[in-house]
Amino acid sequence: MAYWDCPYCNTKKIKGTDQVCPNCAHQRDKDIKCYMDQGNIEYLSEDEAKNKGKGADWICPYCDSLNSIQETACIACGAPKEESKYDYFHREEQPQPASPPPAPAPGNTSVSSGQAKKKKRAPLFALILLLAIGGIFMALKPHDTVFIASAVNWYTTVGVEAYETVEESDWQIPAGGREKSHKKEIYSYNHVIDHYETEQRTRRVKTGSHTEYKYVDNGDGTYKEVPYSVDDYGDETYEEEVPVYVDIPVYKTKYYYEIDKWIPKREVKNSGSDDNPVYKDPQLASNERESGRNVTYKVTGCLADKEDTTKTLEISETMWKKFLNDNRQKCTANRIGNITFPDEK
Ligand SMILES: [Zn+2]
Ligand SMILES: [Zn+2]
Repeated sequence: MAYWDCPYCNTKKIKGTDQVCPNCAHQRDKDIKCYMDQGNIEYLSEDEAKNKGKGADWICPYCDSLNSIQETACIACGAPKEESKYDYFHREEQPQPASPPPAPAPGNTSVSSGQAKKKKRAPLFALILLLAIGGIFMALKPHDTVFIASAVNWYTTVGVEAYETVEESDWQIPAGGREKSHKKEIYSYNHVIDHYETEQRTRRVKTGSHTEYKYVDNGDGTYKEVPYSVDDYGDETYEEEVPVYVDIPVYKTKYYYEIDKWIPKREVKNSGSDDNPVYKDPQLASNERESGRNVTYKVTGCLADKEDTTKTLEISETMWKKFLNDNRQKCTANRIGNITFPDEK
């Protein structure tokens, strides 16, 4: 059972099966909504239910009254049902008699200005982001300038290694090794199951279900009760066997031995500012040999547009030769101090 309130005489909670107010005889019209009393549900008698749930009430196009689907003419004014285009569920769609358009409420203006404020903030944020990206770009963007050298140097290195007897240990003796001792040591660990332990755990399980109801408006002053099933859940305790692991060491024989091999020993350095890099004689002992030679070139000076900052840069042999001829060489530099010479690109 649904109920309605009569707006003409203010009678409350009139049964939905009554199409007419029992107090003032006004017929229920399209502006009246039927409601349910969820806390105190009343079921229709067999007799009341006979004509209900068959379709929504139709709206009389002449007097706006709601009429049961069984009525063929409006019980208030007698207009035929065929002329009705709208029912209880489509009462909002029924065209309203022409009325002047509502004046814009003063609240509307404040809403639109609030939106404008929001829109203004977005470009400001974008501008800050753009300036930040621009700043990084400007700092990294190289510009053409000139590097003025105050010193140009070469540096040579001769590596020396010696044939010596060293002591080592390993799981096997390499060729040429002479064993001094050996012993059992831990080589690795085996991760194995030692035993199982029982652990108490809980899981959520379905314990059953119960029926709940929802109510659907029939549009004729009554509601239909629709049952549906809802699952119930609860915690269930169960036991699980969980493995407990131990690390068991694996032993192997480790050998301690001495072996003769070439060991990096020393570096003999030389430097100069002339045009002829020279390797210094390493004065090799009888058990020594050269392991390699290396030359690097460096220039010290400043940028033409930044004469207060002295820098030392490693350069190629080509640039070193150019600087020996002319202490001013073209380069590119950015604001964070990266300098590039043309032949190094
Ligand atoms: Zn009334
Ligand atoms: Zn009517």
